[in-house]
Amino acid sequence: YSGKTGNQLLGEHIRKLTVKDRKSVPVVCQEETSVYDAICTMFLEDVGTLFVVKEGGVLVGVVSRKDLLKSSMGNQDLQSIPVGIVMSRMPNIITCSPDDTLLSAASKLISSQVDALPVVKEREGGDDGPEVIGRITKTTVTKAFVELGEGATV
Ligand code: ADP
Repeated sequence: YSGKTGNQLLGEHIRKLTVKDRKSVPVVCQEETSVYDAICTMFLEDVGTLFVVKEGGVLVGVVSRKDLLKSSMGNQDLQSIPVGIVMSRMPNIITCSPDDTLLSAASKLISSQVDALPVVKEREGGDDGPEVIGRITKTTVTKAFVELGEGATV
């Protein structure tokens, strides 16, 4: 018997959860994608954040629901506004790596006050920026929380 309290064991369990094991599939668009098409993609894919990529899946930005709402105000032609002018752009994007803990990703979601983080992998020989390989959202973290709470064995 280890003599550890339930809380210590739960903490150890939580710190073992990794981004790699929990990430979901990234939903992406291009800078040239219209605001109109980005909104359609959000509905079709049932996500609140799109990652904006160029060739090779290289991360260039992030576009959120509110970015698209903002650009939709004022009756502009949404088909003619590219996502590139309303998105948040690299290098100001908060990302995480597959080997990070889910706890550290959750901590970034809170401290940066955003809903989603792209999971990225540095590309070999490329000083072009990292490649998007997944997505961590507040839902990812909530799911893990529910599983921990429901699981009898912690
Ligand atoms: P919403 O805007 O729908 O409330 P967020 O809170 O995630 O969604 O986004 C708030 C702002 O932060 C938006 O302008 C968005 O472009 C930006 N943003 C979202 N995710 C990130 C991220 N991972 N890194 C940097 N900026 C982000």
